[in-house]
Amino acid sequence: MLYKNLGLKKDNFSKYVICKKCFTLYNYEDCIILIEGETSSKKCSKVMFQNHRQIARRNQCGEPLLKSVKLKSGDIKLYPYKTCCYKSVKESLSTMAKQKNFEDKCEEWRQRRQEPGVMTDVYDGKFWKEFGEDKKQHFLKTERNYSLMLNLDWFQPFEHVRYSVGVICAVVLILPREERFKLKNVFLVGIIPDMSGEPSVQTFINPFVEEMKITWSTGFSTQSHNNPKKDATFKLACLCVGCDIPATRKLCGF
Ligand SMILES: [Zn+2]
Repeated sequence: MLYKNLGLKKDNFSKYVICKKCFTLYNYEDCIILIEGETSSKKCSKVMFQNHRQIARRNQCGEPLLKSVKLKSGDIKLYPYKTCCYKSVKESLSTMAKQKNFEDKCEEWRQRRQEPGVMTDVYDGKFWKEFGEDKKQHFLKTERNYSLMLNLDWFQPFEHVRYSVGVICAVVLILPREERFKLKNVFLVGIIPDMSGEPSVQTFINPFVEEMKITWSTGFSTQSHNNPKKDATFKLACLCVGCDIPATRKLCGF
């Protein structure tokens, strides 16, 4: 409570309303409609098969997004059925870049020597060496261009109850392996609530995909440990998805 009241250690999650039928994410403000002075819930406007041959099948999902709850005071408030939490990658990386040695550790891989024909880490692979070359620039050759690895898994937080929560997290792949998976270097990306069975997760990574499009092309500026006075530009690319096979398929849309 002390941390909370002082505004410290905030999670700073962006929260999204989930359509419980098709799992499309919405901002809360976009789910409210004003009818004759009263607020009520919008319905999901997602069209699953936009180009369906039968026009009648190109219909909207139509599931209500919010439920109205009557408070003790008699007021009616609208709450999401399910909420998905997302944490900005840019924010997590900005915090990490302020750690001592983080940036230096991220550049260490350039000095390593590879035995010909022996692959001992991700840096020795073909993909790493050629990544971005088709775009006429080797992405990882530039300082402060980092690669990420994404992971998703479900776990059961409660005993004796079927309730599984999905957690999306990421690591900075460019860090040396002994640093890469330390708890301080693993950061949370999103939390998927129990959706009675594992949902298709493509929609849940939409905020991540949108953010990565920007961090990949223009990057983001932040102060770091090595640049305490002036903003430095960082760029990020997601190079790898490493989870169990069912989760990987869902996450990548295979
Ligand atoms: Zn829907």
